[in-house]
Amino acid sequence: MQILYDFKISMTKYIKLGIENHFPAFEVCPSCKAKVKLKRHGFYWRYIHLIKKAVKVPVCRYFCPSCCKTISLLPIFLLPYYQLPLRVIMKLIQCAASGKQVLLNLKRQHLQFIKKRFMNNLNWIEAFFRDKGYGGYIMQDKKEKAMKLMDLINTAATVETFSQRFHNHFLRAFMAQPNAN
Ligand SMILES: [Zn+2]
Repeated sequence: MQILYDFKISMTKYIKLGIENHFPAFEVCPSCKAKVKLKRHGFYWRYIHLIKKAVKVPVCRYFCPSCCKTISLLPIFLLPYYQLPLRVIMKLIQCAASGKQVLLNLKRQHLQFIKKRFMNNLNWIEAFFRDKGYGGYIMQDKKEKAMKLMDLINTAATVETFSQRFHNHFLRAFMAQPNAN
């Protein structure tokens, strides 16, 4: 199981600190909710593509002695299964939605993939805002809906906050494969 965790520091700092980051202790299992102390279970490393280079980022793992699940603590500036920082992904979606040129050395297919994935998650994202009490009108035309939802996402304190809240709410990422849960 993956959790999006707010380390309250910038991505740059997290990368710099690496395994010296402050990793929290858990007294309650986020998966089975048992009141047990989770055991630290090493790290795995993820590559993140920054503008000019790729860097390795540690992801801390925990083990629950109650449900025997492994829990990974993904920093909120990342998304499960994506190698680009969340902020970059959002920028790409925004550019794609408004027809602006993307000034990033990205393969066209990659950009199309990100855009398509976002478009395929519109109903999930709408459901999120509805569950959180948003009562305003949301157009059904896909393109207009995407723009509207993007506006709503931008009302969150940060895109990371939105991503984390979404993940906590549905236990899946807002950019996950729509039929996978
Ligand atoms: Zn557990």
